[in-house]
Amino acid sequence: MARILLSNDDGIEGPGLVALAEALAGLGELRIVAPDRDRSATSHAITVRDSLRVEPVNLNGRWKAHTVSGTPADCVKLGVLELYPDPPDLVVTGINPGANLGIDVFYSGTVAGAAEAALLGIPAVAVSSITDKQAPRFGPAMAAAQAVVRWMLGRKASRPILLNVNAPDELRRPAEALRWTRVALNRRYRDAFEPAGADGHFRLVGDADHGDREDPATDAGAVHRGYVSVTPIQFDLTDYEGLVRWGGELGAPFRVDAVADREAAS
Ligand code: MN
Repeated sequence: MARILLSNDDGIEGPGLVALAEALAGLGELRIVAPDRDRSATSHAITVRDSLRVEPVNLNGRWKAHTVSGTPADCVKLGVLELYPDPPDLVVTGINPGANLGIDVFYSGTVAGAAEAALLGIPAVAVSSITDKQAPRFGPAMAAAQAVVRWMLGRKASRPILLNVNAPDELRRPAEALRWTRVALNRRYRDAFEPAGADGHFRLVGDADHGDREDPATDAGAVHRGYVSVTPIQFDLTDYEGLVRWGGELGAPFRVDAVADREAAS
């Protein structure tokens, strides 16, 4: 039986975690390790100064789980390396009640939890639903999680695969619901700060700039058109064009003698 580790960034109380467990219950042995509180937008942070408190809990009266006083990446590290006798075959995070499209992947704890698994050599999927946070609907995201996990468990992976899945809360065409996409890097936010309560306090406000929706080949474009977006994610952030363009300009090899001389003299 496949061992599937679940986590999220909304914490053990997040409604999407139960939805994810329900969606995947028939596909393997579920292991659940989630933050003890909402840790959304903590990206790939890990806890290094403080110790992590792990507590056994019961999720929805149905699943054994652990809570961790840390981030999604902490949860996945513990779930893979420490809390169970063997590593999982697959890690799935979510379901996040809110989009993780375009540059959201840099801030998202949901994506980071899955990315942490991939860094540890384990295939992983992050699942998000574009839905009302107050009254979230997870149906299409649950179906997508099920389909993607089934596909991943059934294939022989030549290397760990990391997928970012975003589902609308209503499918336009259920029969052809899924689109492979690329990250909409032109997804930007009109960020602003507003004064918050006491003097010297600010709160980040603003909204996504939906110019990113134009291109149907992107995650944002696909979801906007009512499809489930599946984006393969990789870690290489190297600007190869920059490497070629500027690679010769500082002198090759780059000379640091002047700095070294000054340091030796002081
Ligand atoms: Mn979240």
